[in-house]
Amino acid sequence: MTARDTLSAQYKKFVIPTYAPTLALVKGRGARVWDADGKAYLDFAAGIAVQNVGHCHPKVVAAIQEQAARLVHVSNLYYNEKQSVLAAKLSALAGGGKCFFCNSGAEANEALIKLARLWGNPQGKSGIVTMVNSFHGRTLASLAATGQTKYQQGFEPLPEGFSYAEYNNLDSVRAAINDKTAAILVEAVQGEGGVVPATDEFLKGLRALCTEKNILLLFDEVQCGMGRTGTWFGFQNAGVTPDAFSLAKALGSGIPIGAIVASPLLADVFQPGKHASTFGGQPLACAAALATIAVIEEEKLTERAAQSGARLMDGLRAMAPRYSHITEVRGRGLMIGVLLDVPVKPLIQSLAEKGMIVLPAGETVLRLVPPLNIKPAEIDEALDMINEALAELHGIELPDDADA
Ligand SMILES: *Cc1c(COP(=O)(O)O)cnc(C)c1O
Repeated sequence: MTARDTLSAQYKKFVIPTYAPTLALVKGRGARVWDADGKAYLDFAAGIAVQNVGHCHPKVVAAIQEQAARLVHVSNLYYNEKQSVLAAKLSALAGGGKCFFCNSGAEANEALIKLARLWGNPQGKSGIVTMVNSFHGRTLASLAATGQTKYQQGFEPLPEGFSYAEYNNLDSVRAAINDKTAAILVEAVQGEGGVVPATDEFLKGLRALCTEKNILLLFDEVQCGMGRTGTWFGFQNAGVTPDAFSLAKALGSGIPIGAIVASPLLADVFQPGKHASTFGGQPLACAAALATIAVIEEEKLTERAAQSGARLMDGLRAMAPRYSHITEVRGRGLMIGVLLDVPVKPLIQSLAEKGMIVLPAGETVLRLVPPLNIKPAEIDEALDMINEALAELHGIELPDDADA
């Protein structure tokens, strides 16, 4: 029995099987992780777009260790310096506004939804329009906001007030809104929905529509935020300003933290007692987030995401014509999807055998979201492994010097 088999047996007995894990990972450094049996992998999953500064970045580790030894948690009944410094930092990056802190992406979206209703209800508006194929989380309200029935089935009744429009289709959004619509919630790049970037025209059109109709424009930046698409937040690519947006995943480099940033219009809608979180914004998580932001700035990771994303995308687009099962390569920065016309699972298994971890996005999309400080040589190494795995999938024999 390998170490993985032992772990797998114990999981089967005691862990509720909401997931079906394959590898047993025990150590990470930068863009590499190691399994319990000592095998190394290039990590293009990055904890599902969480490790934007790489695994165990020394500056993040030091900040966590220092804060853990000083003060981990006190509750929001008391001022906490780390939280106020983090809020000021996020406000500056967003171009203004105030923050609320929680522990996850779903919770951050719940806060956006509650904020929109609290703002809208006095005007008779409570409806939220979201996009088909969106993903906003697994709590009941964020699940209702998620425009994919496969996640919702069996959990009815879902909270009311949600309707869905087609992504990148302004006419569809126009048709979905009415005088009861309080907000539109959208991802700048759909993640779980297949790595689909919004067009700049769509986002600009949404902004104009929302302003015209007095509707809030909310962005879910949980996956595409924190530098991943080449800007701090995905909406900045289109030059639009949201009324509020959510963050989580990469914000704390893996220490659970979620946040919303609300523009001045919404910054004081929540008043004491209207919303809360016991752990939200605790010193430990905020210290991890502050160190993460500092690393993104010091290592210029927004720029590097744009450059490295172009290198990866160019490499994939160059190999695509050789492989008939690739129908599209798309994405923004280091959030890239390879659309296949066959299930992606065998390709993922084959890449794991070769020493590379990747993610699916739905049944047929290979999702690549490596750390933003991934090195050019590591991207080339990954491209070689993807090339080999695709050749195998297509039954093509590569010449021996294929990866030379
Ligand atoms: C992952 C994700 C969420 C949910 O975040 P959790 O931390 O798992 O609750 C919400 N929205 C988007 C876009 C995500 O990618």
